[in-house]
Amino acid sequence: MDERRDPPPDATDRAPIAAGLGRLSPVQAAYAAYTRHAIRCDDCRDVDHTCEVAEELWRTYQQVGGGAVQAVADVARGA
Ligand SMILES: [Zn+2]
Repeated sequence: MDERRDPPPDATDRAPIAAGLGRLSPVQAAYAAYTRHAIRCDDCRDVDHTCEVAEELWRTYQQVGGGAVQAVADVARGA
């Protein structure tokens, strides 16, 4: 049996989480803005509501992607 014998490191010894600190490409930044909004927005979580902010962020993401987003979606669907 391979049980861990060392005590876990203190939380203060851990490196800070670097997610979101690096430079994102414009497409990644647009998608991040969309997802950041969607996970915090009550209207986005309610299936009976539409969210104009989310729709605008999604349109921005698609525009920034310059068609690449749709091309990937088409490939994923087998179109
Ligand atoms: Zn929303």
